[in-house]
Amino acid sequence: MGRDLERILIGEEELQAKIKELAGKIDADYAGKDLLIVGVLKGAVMVMADLARALRIPVEMDWMAVSSYGAGTRSSGVVRVLKDLDTDIAGRHVLVVEDIIDSGLTLSWLVHNLKSRNPASVEICTALRKPDAIKVPIDVKYVGFDIPNEFVIGYGLDYAERYRNLPFIGTLAPHVYQKDAAKDGDRSE
Ligand code: 5GP
Ligand code: MG
Ligand code: MG
Repeated sequence: MGRDLERILIGEEELQAKIKELAGKIDADYAGKDLLIVGVLKGAVMVMADLARALRIPVEMDWMAVSSYGAGTRSSGVVRVLKDLDTDIAGRHVLVVEDIIDSGLTLSWLVHNLKSRNPASVEICTALRKPDAIKVPIDVKYVGFDIPNEFVIGYGLDYAERYRNLPFIGTLAPHVYQKDAAKDGDRSE
């Protein structure tokens, strides 16, 4: 692993402090309301787990798994639902929890899909966002960190399903992805 990592962008303590800060805002905004937090598998697992434990208001948790078709490390906006919610969200306050917003295409599709189910509200919380990569305007209520337009790993984010378990956000050394740069196909979140 040591040789695969290029540098640490956001350390563990900084991440945890930010999640607690976001949780405080969510506590205040949703006080007295019935909140369902929805994690987008698999990337949002770490954020969900930390955020949920930092929240003081009661919440329900549910999960969706989606996959965006597209080549390599890019998203196309064509989304396939691999696992839908178990919950009927009609009339409920929904907070979608994401690892990262890159082009915004996946999330924009997802929010549109969720809104068609007549929830009371749909908002977004993301640990990371890449402002320079955004392709569609998307209203994000809670953002952990705006980061440069680089491919990052750790804290739920993978490269070829690895590195999700790292407790920090880092960048990969180019040799890791150069050796299988030709890989194409469906990319699950
Ligand atoms: P978008 O549709 O916003 O372009 O991409 C959304 C998904 O692509 C994210 O939820 C994440 O799974 C993946 N993704 C986007 N940028 C990165 C990145 O820098 N690193 C990793 N590991 N995944 C990313
Ligand atoms: Mg991925
Ligand atoms: Mg994601």
